[in-house]
Amino acid sequence: MIKYISFDLDGTLIHENKKFDYILWSVEIPKLYAKKNRVSLKEARKEIFSQYYSSKYIDKLNDKDWTRVTYWLKRFRLEKDLENLVSKMKKHVNISKKTIGVLKRLSKKHDLILITASDPQFIKIKLETDRIEKYFKRIFSIDSLKVQNKDEKMYLKVLKQLKAKPEEIAHVGDGRKVDFEIPSNLGIIAFHLNHKGSKEKNSVKSLVEFEQKLKALKLI
Ligand SMILES: [Mg+2]
Repeated sequence: MIKYISFDLDGTLIHENKKFDYILWSVEIPKLYAKKNRVSLKEARKEIFSQYYSSKYIDKLNDKDWTRVTYWLKRFRLEKDLENLVSKMKKHVNISKKTIGVLKRLSKKHDLILITASDPQFIKIKLETDRIEKYFKRIFSIDSLKVQNKDEKMYLKVLKQLKAKPEEIAHVGDGRKVDFEIPSNLGIIAFHLNHKGSKEKNSVKSLVEFEQKLKALKLI
């Protein structure tokens, strides 16, 4: 019997994350930059994209800063717009009714946790959408655990904080490496959420299938 059921956030509980990211990085931030610097949206995009690119590939900025909205707003001197931006992004968060159903059912008898590398500025608004925060006993982010990435160290810290053995946790997420390979290697019962479907072992097409699989394997 497992003690905790663990979920990834982006691409797992939240759908169409690509759209969310696209709107954030390619539309809303350039809009703010254009307004502040009195340039056209096209010029703003050109400047911003060249900075995204050069920081990652030339200056080798660490992943944590590179993916952080607070880092970029500071760099573009747009810090004051953070709150406005975060609330504007709220309407782009999408959680399906089926996902909420799974969380509702599983949380009745089990402790649910969340393990995410998502930007802390957005974890809260993502969880507030459709009020899914209440289903989780614990929320682990790369900031709360003081790690750089969703890596082995992160999972080890989660196990330590929960005082749990790896085999007492079932985890599901859409990242093959970060949600399946890494936790599996530690002994966590991990499932890869592959929306396209796959015949691989421990691969599930949906969270409903994940729930069914946990039952079939008598893990819950
Ligand atoms: Mg994910």
